[in-house]
Amino acid sequence: MTAPQPPASTKAETSAKLAFRPLPVPQVDVRGFWGDRVDAVAAKTAGILYDRCVEARMLEQIDPDRPSPGVVIPFHSPSPDEADAQGAEFTGSTVTTQMFWDSDWGKTIETAAYSLYRRRNPDLEKKIDAVIDMYGKLQQPDGYLSSWYQRIQPGLRWTNLRDCHELYCAGHLIEGAVAYYQATGKRKLLDIMCRYADHIASMFGPEPGKRKGYCGHEEIELALVKLARATGENKYMELAKYFIDQRGQQPHYFDEEARARGADPKAYHFKTYEYNQSHKPVREQDKVVGHAVRAMYLYSGMADIATEYGDDTLKVALERLWDDLTTKSLYVTGGLGPSAHNEGFTSDYDLPNETAYAETCASVGLVFWASRMLGMGPNARYADMMERALYNGSISGLSLDGSLFFYENPLESRGGHHRWKWHRCPCCPPNIGRMVASIGSYFYGLADDALAVHLYGDSTARFEIAGRPVSLVQTSNYPWDGAVAIEIEAETPIALTLYLRVPAWCRNAALKVNGKMVDLDAATIDGYAAIRREWRRGDRVELDLEMSMARLFANPQVRQDIGRVALARGPLIYCVEETDNGGGLHCIALPREAKLEAHSEPNLLGGIVTLSAIGSRAETENWGSDLYRAKPPAAEETKLKAVPYFAWDNRDPGEMLVWLREG
Ligand SMILES: [Zn+2]
Repeated sequence: MTAPQPPASTKAETSAKLAFRPLPVPQVDVRGFWGDRVDAVAAKTAGILYDRCVEARMLEQIDPDRPSPGVVIPFHSPSPDEADAQGAEFTGSTVTTQMFWDSDWGKTIETAAYSLYRRRNPDLEKKIDAVIDMYGKLQQPDGYLSSWYQRIQPGLRWTNLRDCHELYCAGHLIEGAVAYYQATGKRKLLDIMCRYADHIASMFGPEPGKRKGYCGHEEIELALVKLARATGENKYMELAKYFIDQRGQQPHYFDEEARARGADPKAYHFKTYEYNQSHKPVREQDKVVGHAVRAMYLYSGMADIATEYGDDTLKVALERLWDDLTTKSLYVTGGLGPSAHNEGFTSDYDLPNETAYAETCASVGLVFWASRMLGMGPNARYADMMERALYNGSISGLSLDGSLFFYENPLESRGGHHRWKWHRCPCCPPNIGRMVASIGSYFYGLADDALAVHLYGDSTARFEIAGRPVSLVQTSNYPWDGAVAIEIEAETPIALTLYLRVPAWCRNAALKVNGKMVDLDAATIDGYAAIRREWRRGDRVELDLEMSMARLFANPQVRQDIGRVALARGPLIYCVEETDNGGGLHCIALPREAKLEAHSEPNLLGGIVTLSAIGSRAETENWGSDLYRAKPPAAEETKLKAVPYFAWDNRDPGEMLVWLREG
């Protein structure tokens, strides 16, 4: 494996000495909870993604040796009804072409890359190599590369950035290329995508004669940052910064572009440029609006640029947007974007449970954004939310065995919502696949002489401080148990600041270094305990986080949740399922004073901790045929059992409920 190059000495680097960068995926081995999930992706999901892409006839679009499929299916976002209808039956055989197939290949390559690092799979590697060869053959002499615009709609490249995902596709292929290079050492796709990025840089930028555009679906911004970090080429960082700086400027590029192709800019399907966050320049934006995944990808790119350039104007805008999302528009699961209509945000405090769209990709995007906010320094405000989205609203999108997927992640189901094999708009499966397979890179942030531990879990990390190799081993049964032991191994004593997150959900925490208690209050800033010392071989840190159980209540302005309570333990949000509690979950109520109990159940759902309590159930049997009565129903005592939300719909199909009635 070839180690990635550090960024070349650049303006970005000199102004951002305190940047905390994620460790590349191969430098962190995860075990335990995340190890099981990565294994499921490596053993199943990665191969399934490839097979489903082939079944959806995606190879026919990208392979220049085959005749062009030529059937154009216009872009279409599925409604929830359609998604359900397509559901488990849909394997893609009716779809031949799509403008975003390159993005699905990019994410499939990325998932495969990280999976190959985890688990050798020569058959899958050969298949991915063949896909990469097709892209190599498809690439035009000037570097341009888009299976849609080369094979399906030739002659129209760069004419509709607003709607056609052209740069978005490039971004996903870039991310796939970086991952494949990091995981296998193979440069072919990286070289292909550098040539394409060079071509894009020759077409877009502030210089006279270049286009002043950017993509309607953000993604390339964060991808170019990855490319810059992997290659050390600052020109890619500059291009990412250009796309971010240019977004929403006047005259509006999407207006001009529409006129240039003879279209009325006002005849825009989504009516407002809020849909793709180009309604105003990014530094002036203060509300999280529009399509949720696009928003998360944009803010992720902005956070990367804020980190790399030490740009406080971007940082201030991001903090405003973060406040807006987390105080008004975020589900308790870390899900976001309640509406199927725009696949995005609606109005403040509008968080319907049963119809929650909460696309898996949006929660994955929130993980991306939160992790990048940590580039500007450790802050539990971001890391706690990253953890919330990771353990709940994102991995709910993947079945425990890694074979089935959710597109929408509602917080309540009457029994009809289940994971499916594939989708005609298959953005979520490879997105959750790549996130899980790359989970190691979310654990840590590395600065010049500091390491921040953002996530806990059984794992080993390898990194360098001042050119000297250091390893850090975490031993823990997190998230089921909050005891974390950390051992630091270095050949010679090494000075570094270790930042340890103390999550806000934890009511009691204790920290010891080599057996000696540390005053946590004095050591903690922004939710991280900082320990600066010269670390020697065998030094041991013990962090004890009480896995507190909690009742959570929503702001009363959330009309759907008033009078209701959600259960949590540590970072996990819980739900009740029909298979444990019988049907009619809305009839169950949990009294405020009922005692919550936690039970370790090693044989249930891969080994989980369940919660139980004595509640009550409105009895329906003696109600008769009346629809209304002047007397309330009688209630009987019932024992309720809750499981982690991420694990729902892995057993007998049935109802599910996160927000329980209180009473
Ligand atoms: Zn998606």
